[in-house]
Amino acid sequence: MKVNFNLKGKVAMVTGGGSGIGRGICLKLAENGADIAICDINMDNAEKTAEMVRNLGSKAMVQKVDVANAGQVETGVEAIIKTMGKIDILCNNAGVSLIKNIVDLEEKDWDAHMNINAKGVYLCSKAVAKHMIARGEGGRIINTASYLGKIAAPGLGHYCASKFAVVGLTQSLACELGPYKITVNSVCPGDVDTPMMEKEWVMHAKNRGITPEEAKEENRQRMLLGRLEKPEDIANLVAFLASDLAEYITAESINVSGGLPFTR
Ligand code: NAD
Repeated sequence: MKVNFNLKGKVAMVTGGGSGIGRGICLKLAENGADIAICDINMDNAEKTAEMVRNLGSKAMVQKVDVANAGQVETGVEAIIKTMGKIDILCNNAGVSLIKNIVDLEEKDWDAHMNINAKGVYLCSKAVAKHMIARGEGGRIINTASYLGKIAAPGLGHYCASKFAVVGLTQSLACELGPYKITVNSVCPGDVDTPMMEKEWVMHAKNRGITPEEAKEENRQRMLLGRLEKPEDIANLVAFLASDLAEYITAESINVSGGLPFTR
């Protein structure tokens, strides 16, 4: 079903826009009229998303930004404002995952999760919020957290810690930025059929002596709504939160998980 959230004239910066949920967000915002700055560390994939955005009739630019690198974030935000004129919507979506029990987890993996999933949201929000405050026309910050930003899961302690951080940061930032008419919310996906989840199915399969296809099929059968989640399921909520219809929604972290916390 197509609903028009009327984002014509808006500019969105989407991190991790080269793949999976990030690409889905770019396409949905473009479908609703927004121009898109796609930020990623994988430039080939970012270019592919840009091409898809342009095919929908919106402007697109790509910018290499490692969200965990303060210098790259600042330079990237400046470049986007120079090229696109402004940023109305920031989607902090870039992220990584790994399945490993804490007793086996290496310090570098802990650091990578905290640096990309949590610190990346802080760095990008800081750079873009300064610009939004100075412009004085409000704005939207929409973070991709996870249902695992609210409940725990074995083998994902480092990931949960990073996503709980995103939910906490969402609430604090919303308090600080509310006076400037900037709303801050998180979308919390369940298990979404993306390259990240494909890797997780491989890890699950290895741990349990089954094939990745069997792990994926088990996942599908567990879902309350009988199908796996798609990037578009999350992108629909992002487009709504970016629109004028959501002007009074802030500090929320909303699950789009097909009821995953209630499955067996
Ligand atoms: P994905 O692996 O398909 O895409 C992630 C993108 O982020 C890639 O394009 C990658 O190059 C980019 N990226 C990685 N590190 C980066 C960095 N340091 N700087 C900039 N870009 C970087 O993953 P996805 O499934 O689309 O996940 C997107 C977001 O959704 C992540 O934050 C993830 O934690 C979250 N999430 C995913 C699921 C799921 O089931 N797939 C569930 C809950 C939450």
